[in-house]
Amino acid sequence: MARDGNPQPPRRVELKDAEWRARLTPEQFRVTRQKGTEPAHSSAMCALFEPGRYACACCATELFDAGSKFDSHSGWPSFTQAVAPDVVAYHDDSSHGMTRIETTCNVCDAHLGHVFPDGPAPSGLRYCINALSLTKC
Ligand code: FE
Repeated sequence: MARDGNPQPPRRVELKDAEWRARLTPEQFRVTRQKGTEPAHSSAMCALFEPGRYACACCATELFDAGSKFDSHSGWPSFTQAVAPDVVAYHDDSSHGMTRIETTCNVCDAHLGHVFPDGPAPSGLRYCINALSLTKC
C-alpha cells in the first residue's frame, strides 16, 4: 500500500500544529506530529495485555485491538494487524539509513511507528508502535 496508494480513511481530522500542541503533551507532540521515536522499553504499555482497544492519541480513532497485541521483546508495543484496513496508512521511509515502512493514522496523519515483515502468523507482520501514539481504551 505504501507504493500502490492507501485506502480512503473513514473520516479525516485535520488540525494546525498549534492546535495539536495544545492538545498533546510535548512528548506526544514530538512523536506523533514530528515523527519522533520514544526510547525502547520506556512504556509499561509494552507489557500490558488486558483486553481492549488502542486508539490514536491524537484523534481517538481505534487502531489496534488487544487481541492482536504480542510481546515482541522490541521495547515497543507490537501488533499483528490493525482493527480495520482503512485506519492505518503506509509510507516508504528511507530515513536514518534504513528502508522501512512508516505507519500513520489514516484519519489525522499521526506518526505511529513502522511495520516489519517479521511478525507471527497468520499476518506475518509486526506493527511496532510508539506507546506515546496510543491511548488504551
Ligand atoms: Fe489519529
